[in-house]
Amino acid sequence: MGEEEERAVIEVLRSGSLCRFYGPSDPKYVLSFEAQAREYYGVRHAIAVNSCTGALECAIAAIGLEPGDEVILPAFMWVSNISAVVRANAIPILCEIDDSFTLSPPDIENKISSRTKLIIAVHMAGGQCDMDAIMMIANRHGIPVLEDVAQSNGGELHGRKLGTIGAAGVFSLQLHKNITSGEGGLIVTNDKRLAERSFAAHDIGLRLLDGHLVGGDPKDIVWGSGRRMSELAGALASVQMQKLSAIVRQMRRSHDRIISLIADLPGIVFRRLIDSSGSTGSFIIIVLDTPRRASDIALRLKEGGMHHVYRLAEYLLHIYSNITALVQKVPLSPAGEPWSLASSNGVALNYAKGACPKSDDLFSRSLIIPIASCLTSDQEEDAANLIIHATKIAN
Ligand SMILES: *Cc1c(COP(=O)(O)O)cnc(C)c1O
Repeated sequence: MGEEEERAVIEVLRSGSLCRFYGPSDPKYVLSFEAQAREYYGVRHAIAVNSCTGALECAIAAIGLEPGDEVILPAFMWVSNISAVVRANAIPILCEIDDSFTLSPPDIENKISSRTKLIIAVHMAGGQCDMDAIMMIANRHGIPVLEDVAQSNGGELHGRKLGTIGAAGVFSLQLHKNITSGEGGLIVTNDKRLAERSFAAHDIGLRLLDGHLVGGDPKDIVWGSGRRMSELAGALASVQMQKLSAIVRQMRRSHDRIISLIADLPGIVFRRLIDSSGSTGSFIIIVLDTPRRASDIALRLKEGGMHHVYRLAEYLLHIYSNITALVQKVPLSPAGEPWSLASSNGVALNYAKGACPKSDDLFSRSLIIPIASCLTSDQEEDAANLIIHATKIAN
């Protein structure tokens, strides 16, 4: 955050136009953020919202699911991916991850049924999903793909911006992400109908992209969810958007340098990046040979001052079996939906640890290390030396 953000926020405060649609003077920042997003991602439509969780819910409402429809998503994600599906009264179906720490394409095939209506491809930890393989499978079955780019904003796959390959892409501008407005989100798509329905869903359910009201055909009408971005957040988002490329460039440089300094350590492999030159560099994932070694090294790293290193198995609500509400199948209402819809389909649902054994094995042996966008050359070397030291002792 710099003076640019400060100036923009103060300008909004003084103008009194804090809502994207109206005020004493013409609001401009949310519109400007959306225009910058269309340009940066190279898409026809961009809709600013107040979180990625909201973006997921609006995009899912736009795509349209029926009660009990199945949605395939990875074992490594964020709880919002699950909650957005459950709140649409649909059933999350977990898919294994592979050594890219994103959806395993062969396991998508295993999990597809006649009820599968959506695949959520979550680009995790600065990396990418194997979108070529995923789109081939999805297209063969006629299933839309929603890309969650909350953790890889600014990333690319062989020259294509992440979020622009599937039917729609969603982004987060929450404090932890590559750029931030404190809270914030974005939906991008080239599909006009999805854009119109997402826009209506994020607002009051009635307004089209051009400000006109939705027509009378019930199949075009969605219910609104009040997820508009405020002009204050828009002011931050539109300034931050201009910094995204530089932030990503800096993180990727630090990421690649640290990796090059530790590349030859025995008993260590790194997460496979589908396209390393297009990753955002925001995290290093190290895979050790045993869970024991992973926890020993994590402890050493923490003792050495690397406070934000996690053993992946303990990485909060990014790991399916850590999501109590999912494991316990907490229903939307006393009627038991959406889970009750699945049992009437004859599907046995299990979300407890063990449901995705290949992912469990990777989680138990892996460490995740975040990379800041402001590391000095000395700090990169310190981080690498700390990792080298920690792995030596633990051997
Ligand atoms: C952070 C995150 C979200 C949610 O973003 P919010 O803006 O906090 O709602 C969704 N998906 C993934 C993968 C995330 O990491």
